[in-house]
Amino acid sequence: MALLNINGLSFAAGDRTILDGLNLALAEQEIHALLGANGTGKSTLAYLIMGCSGYVGSAGEIRFAGQPIDALPLHERAKLGITMAWQEPARFEGLRVEDYLALKSASDPADCLRRVGLEPDRYLQRAVDKTLSGGERKRIELASVLALQPRLAILDEPASGIDMLSLQEIVDVIQFLNKMQTTVLLITHRQEIAHIADRASLLCGGRIVLTGAPDAVAEQYRARRCLMCDGEACRA
Ligand code: ADP
Ligand code: MG
Repeated sequence: MALLNINGLSFAAGDRTILDGLNLALAEQEIHALLGANGTGKSTLAYLIMGCSGYVGSAGEIRFAGQPIDALPLHERAKLGITMAWQEPARFEGLRVEDYLALKSASDPADCLRRVGLEPDRYLQRAVDKTLSGGERKRIELASVLALQPRLAILDEPASGIDMLSLQEIVDVIQFLNKMQTTVLLITHRQEIAHIADRASLLCGGRIVLTGAPDAVAEQYRARRCLMCDGEACRA
């Protein structure tokens, strides 16, 4: 049985259709890359899976471990074991890194920091605020996902932005998640990242237009462009 099963999911923002009958299934413990050009709706899909406020599908269904979760608020989905590392991590003025990681702790905060390339002695007492660089916040966000030991981790563009994680660092983080039996949805606009995954899907025109081996899917996506439609948006 699929851990995550998305069937016919549609979402519009204002009069703009972003997702249009999207289907996607993630197997238990799979690492699944979601590729798509900028603005195709990858983050929107992540917010719909998480249950962020304002993100309710106009059609379709999302099931997690067999259970429909569409009506559940974000914190209930988090309790089921769904978590996310945001493309733009939040800041929490006044909260120290150590406390932020402990909030979610199933694992040792220092160990989680080391696994994202941060020396615990230098970071545990820091505040999770604007004094951290974008890359440092991104790493701390990933550490918090590791700390939670989730069933499903959605990593939204883990390798984007300045001071980004290297491909090897992302491989290490994902392998560690995999060891904890976490299923990973790896969202990226970079085709080289997709090769880390077991399978990949391509999002274009509001739908998944291709799912398969990462090589085969990356073949249809180059330089931030869907080649199945030559960048014109599939089925538009
Ligand atoms: P991606 O992550 O693939 O780059 P996004 O999911 O961030 O794409 O955005 C998809 C499209 O939907 C973009 O054109 C974006 O401007 C638009 N969009 C996303 N959320 C909203 C919103 N709440 N209101 C209006 N437009 C939105
Ligand atoms: Mg995005």
